[in-house]
Amino acid sequence: MAVTRPLLPPLEEFIPYLEQIWQNRQLTNGGPFHQQFEQELAAYLGVEHLCLFNNGTTALLTALQALRITGEVITTPYSFVATSHSLLWNGLTPVFVDIDPLTCNLDPEKIEQAITPRTSAILPVHCYGIPCNVGRIQQIADDYGLKVIYDAAHAFGVRVAGKSILQQGDLSILSFHATKVFNTIEGGAIICPDAKTKKRIDYLKNFGFANETTIVATGINGKMNELQAAFGLLQLQHIDAALLARKQLAARYRQLLTDIKGIELITVPESVDWNCAYFPILVNDAFPVSRDQLYQLFKDKGILTRRYFYPLINSFPMYRGLASADDAHLPSANRLSSQILCLPVYPDLTADEQLAIATLITGTLSENVA
Ligand SMILES: *Cc1c(COP(=O)(O)O)cnc(C)c1O
Repeated sequence: MAVTRPLLPPLEEFIPYLEQIWQNRQLTNGGPFHQQFEQELAAYLGVEHLCLFNNGTTALLTALQALRITGEVITTPYSFVATSHSLLWNGLTPVFVDIDPLTCNLDPEKIEQAITPRTSAILPVHCYGIPCNVGRIQQIADDYGLKVIYDAAHAFGVRVAGKSILQQGDLSILSFHATKVFNTIEGGAIICPDAKTKKRIDYLKNFGFANETTIVATGINGKMNELQAAFGLLQLQHIDAALLARKQLAARYRQLLTDIKGIELITVPESVDWNCAYFPILVNDAFPVSRDQLYQLFKDKGILTRRYFYPLINSFPMYRGLASADDAHLPSANRLSSQILCLPVYPDLTADEQLAIATLITGTLSENVA
């Protein structure tokens, strides 16, 4: 049992799409499935302008280019390493700021003290699909003239008070990697506010070509191909069922694991329509075994949980020389990183499997207390 299993549509449903691709003989470069998927996905997510990408990391790299970000960028150490890597690849300096332990996201109250004359942007992450404090972050960005790019790789379909979280800030990026809630095998997208920005991003993801002979920017190859787009179109037909299954699993975990000594659950505000992308628990000092021991107990039973996010990004060799990488000013990120465990959650996880996972936790507690 892994922490996740990719969402795969029935094979026979994909065959007609393949037949069409073989007939068209257009495999990439903004073919018919690309156009159709871009429109249907934007409509599904409730956003107006969206650019498809071959993966989430290229989308991140391109988003930073699209806004011509320079100098220092404030970001979270509590994320997947691609968040910060996208800054280094653009010659930018990450400035790590601590997280709010309640949301697992960048703590807005700690952002201002990290701003310098070189700061040009904030790159927060909606960790686990739980929304950042977007109102406060925007206020700071407005006060200091900073851009905001959300790494929304975990936040597919998340809404707050009925509105998509993906329209916050200047740009948001999504990942459709196989391990994510919604996948196109590999894939990603940038959500942008207007047609003009979309045009610039579309140039940037296609080497900078504006037409056959004109190059308007130093672009990259970030294009999603026709097989990915067709796969995505088919996945859209199954995503609502998958999201519903995730919600039911999360509700059941909550029932099974509430009020267990030493286990903390992360609460998602009522107003958030969460995608249950992950099911994180915190194993604190009151639990009889350490987080790593519990992780190993699961592993011994063939259950793969994940320590997302451990180690913290600031501890990796290409980051730890930065002044902001000092753990002394990242206490909450360090505590969460040492206590976090993400339990398996994917649509076809069975009730029995889920019960076995919860029982391993409660069993470990009772054995060691008795
Ligand atoms: C998955 C992920 C990415 C990278 O997306 P890819 O599609 O795998 O390139 C970036 N940021 C976060 C937070 C992620 O979880």
